[in-house]
Amino acid sequence: MTKSFVTRFAPSPSGYLHLGHAYSGLLAFRAAEKNQGRFLLRIEDIDKTRCKLEFEEAIYEDLGWLGLDWEHPVRRQSNYFDDYLAAINVLQEKELLYPCFCTRKNIGKEIRNSAHAPHGPDGPLYPGTCRVLDPDIQTEKIEKGLPFALRLDVGKALSMIKIPLTFKENEIEIAADLASLGDIVVARKDVMTSYHLSVVVDDHLQGITHVIRGQDLFHATHIHRLLQELLRIQPPQYHHHGLLVGADGRRFAKRDRSMTIKALREGGKTLPDVFALIKDHGGDLEAELPF
Ligand code: GLU
Repeated sequence: MTKSFVTRFAPSPSGYLHLGHAYSGLLAFRAAEKNQGRFLLRIEDIDKTRCKLEFEEAIYEDLGWLGLDWEHPVRRQSNYFDDYLAAINVLQEKELLYPCFCTRKNIGKEIRNSAHAPHGPDGPLYPGTCRVLDPDIQTEKIEKGLPFALRLDVGKALSMIKIPLTFKENEIEIAADLASLGDIVVARKDVMTSYHLSVVVDDHLQGITHVIRGQDLFHATHIHRLLQELLRIQPPQYHHHGLLVGADGRRFAKRDRSMTIKALREGGKTLPDVFALIKDHGGDLEAELPF
C-alpha cells in the first residue's frame, strides 16, 4: 500500500520523554491520521554512551500510553550504520569532507582568540581550523592514530550547487541559509555518522513526506537541505512546531523530571490530564496541526 503522507516521530533514548516530546509525537500522529497517512517511529540511538535500552523501552511504553500506534519494525539507527557510511562515501567522492582533530576545548580556545568569530543560531561556528590544516600535518595526525571527526566543507559544497536551495515550511518556500551552521560534523569521532547525516538519510530511506518536529530544529533544516542536494535526495515538507515552556518560561528539557511521561503515567495522570498540561504550557494540539 502506498500512501502519499508519511510522517515520523524520532526520539533519542538518552533520557525519559517529557511533555514536549508528547506534544511532538501527538502532533505527528494526528497529522498522519488526518491525512490517512502513515506514522513511523524511529529510535535515534547513534550516541552509544548516552542512549540506553531502558529509555528506549520507556519510549514504547510512553507512546503506547499516549494512544500512539506506529508501524513495525521500528527503525533503530544503530542497526543501520552501513546506510550512513554509503552516504559518507558519496560526500567523500565529491571531496567535500575533511578530517577534524579538534576537541571542544581547542575550538573554544580558537574562538576566544579570534577577533571576529562568526556566530550561528546555535552559537559560534566551527572556525575551520582543520579545513586549512597543512596536508603533511594531517597525514601525520592520521598515522599517529589521533581520533578525528569528518566535517563538511560547506563553502566548497555551495560552490558546486548551481541553484538556490529552498525548503517548504508549512507549504511556504523558504530560502536555505546555508552558512548558518558552519562546517557541520557528518561523522563524529566516536561513531561514523552524526545527527544531521542520519536524519537526512533515514527520512529519505523511510519515504518520509512530512517532517513535524520542534522549532529548536528549524536551523538544522537549512543544512539538511544542503545534504539532501549533495546526496540527490528529494526533500520532504516541514513543519517546526512551537516549543512548550516550563513555569520558569524556559523551554522544556530532560531536566524537568516531574514532567516526564513516565512520571505522569505512574503518578496516576490520565490522557485528558496530559492534553490539559500541554495546553497549560503553551501547546495547541488543534491549531498547531500543520498539514
Ligand atoms: N532525535 C531528535 C531529538 O530527539 C529529533 C530528530 C528530528 O526530529 O529530526 O531531538
